[in-house]
Amino acid sequence: MSSSLHEPKSQVKKQKISNVEEMKEYTYIVVGGGIAGVTCAEHLYILDPEAQTLLLTASYLIKTVTNVLPLTKTLDAFDVEEQPPEDLASRCPSVTVERDAVVQLDAKNKVIHTNSGNKFKYEKLCICSGAKPKVIPAAGNNPYVLWIRDTESVSQFQARMMNAKRIIIVGNGGIATEMVYEVTGVEVIWVIKDKYMTANFIDPGAAEFFRPELCKEKGKKVLPLKRRKYTVDKASGDLPVMGGALGPDWHEKLELKGDSTHRVILETEVEVSCILSPEEVKKLGKTVSTTRFEEGSAEWPVYVELTNDKVYGCSFIVSATGVIPNSKDFLAGNNFSLSLEGGFLVDDKMQTTESDIYAAGDVCTPNWEISRHWFQMRLWTQARQMGSYAAKCMWSSISGEEMYMDFCFELFCHATKFFGKKVILLGLFNGQGLESKYDILLRYSEGVEYIKCVMVEGRMQGALLIGETDLEETFENLILNQMDLSEFGEDLLNPDIDIEDYFD
Ligand code: FAD
Repeated sequence: MSSSLHEPKSQVKKQKISNVEEMKEYTYIVVGGGIAGVTCAEHLYILDPEAQTLLLTASYLIKTVTNVLPLTKTLDAFDVEEQPPEDLASRCPSVTVERDAVVQLDAKNKVIHTNSGNKFKYEKLCICSGAKPKVIPAAGNNPYVLWIRDTESVSQFQARMMNAKRIIIVGNGGIATEMVYEVTGVEVIWVIKDKYMTANFIDPGAAEFFRPELCKEKGKKVLPLKRRKYTVDKASGDLPVMGGALGPDWHEKLELKGDSTHRVILETEVEVSCILSPEEVKKLGKTVSTTRFEEGSAEWPVYVELTNDKVYGCSFIVSATGVIPNSKDFLAGNNFSLSLEGGFLVDDKMQTTESDIYAAGDVCTPNWEISRHWFQMRLWTQARQMGSYAAKCMWSSISGEEMYMDFCFELFCHATKFFGKKVILLGLFNGQGLESKYDILLRYSEGVEYIKCVMVEGRMQGALLIGETDLEETFENLILNQMDLSEFGEDLLNPDIDIEDYFD
């Protein structure tokens, strides 16, 4: 496949820079075909349809948000579809998509150099190059350690699962939680450094709510997937960067074993101290731990030693321990300020510290005075919100239109599913930043719903809603308007009082 998907349109200026080279000039260049980049390019087209925009992406397919369903003022549910770049170009005729990877950025001269030797000049640039998986330090280049980020990494996982009997999943975030739920028919040892599972998203009480799911038979999926899917041989082909992060149906692609039983062993408050070969286990005289699911002692191709000194054998290890912003291709020779984790620091107009360069999605780190009930989490919702807001800021800096901070940054909101149940997170749902100075109101019905409100002096600061509660809109309002709810006390969650009607 050639690296250029579309010839840039005739209006695009070409500047002669030598006898042989031509440099194409665009008003806007967006790097990255993930949700942040594609949303940014789409919104640039809506705001400034006459301007020439280039979307440069290393991935074959781009990610597009579809079927947007507003759940509340600040929270939308949506699907993420993988689409061929032609679909974007046909929807947004002044957007050109090129499949190429940025290998160097010359911020002073506003020029991008790509893997195929092309140069592109921009007036405004938005970097949406996503993030890379943070792999457990003990992994080195061990071939038995996998991670999940893009289509290609899922293919590798699928191939390994064919003969797997036991896998070790390391990490306690959303990806690890979804994998533990989706993987059936093999034994799973889930290694987490926290006291309880899924600690980034839920509290210990909610973890107990979900715990019975770890060894339950998984319900059959009744509905077929309605989304269109495209399959490619390789996610990024010969380009030196990975494809975009997977969309919400990513676990469907895991195509797991027929047997629907969960067999999960949870190892809490531990980390991986080293990975050993069978020979090393023998040579060092390590005692190998067995599990309640194991019949007789087995030989494994790889072993993991945990910080609690237990040694487990497994077929392979999945590292799901978070991400690192993918900023390094843009740094050489430039003056970007980065966060400790390597994200481009952006101000309240999504601008980096280099002029006319913006960043959005997983690759950036907000460096503005954030509102009390919002914080960054590298999620689809925020990639979309930031991509859209970055487009508005880029356009406003050219058009001179005044632009105010988008309302979506007022309140943290996220809708997801854990263990097949709807989960909605609002505001400071885990008491983030409140230093334990808060009260909790709880309504709990085993296996059905778990509702938690975080309250400070009678005002709601955050909420965690598991199950079909229908309370998200009411609670969003209560967090945003900071109404004093002291007079209701615990009745706020009394199932006999219809608080929805009351507050609407
Ligand atoms: P990406 O989607 O990573 O896109 C980056 C793009 O930049 C890619 O197209 C890449 O090819 C391109 N690129 C990179 N470098 C270059 C370069 N040098 N030149 C040209 N192009 C380049 N979020 C949720 O909200 N809910 C979930 O349940 C959830 N589950 C997840 C499960 C998995 C397995 C993973 C990996 C992530 C999950 N996330 C989830 C997180 C979510 O996917 C990301 O936050 C979001 O996709 C980030 O979007 P992005 O556009 O910033 O980056």
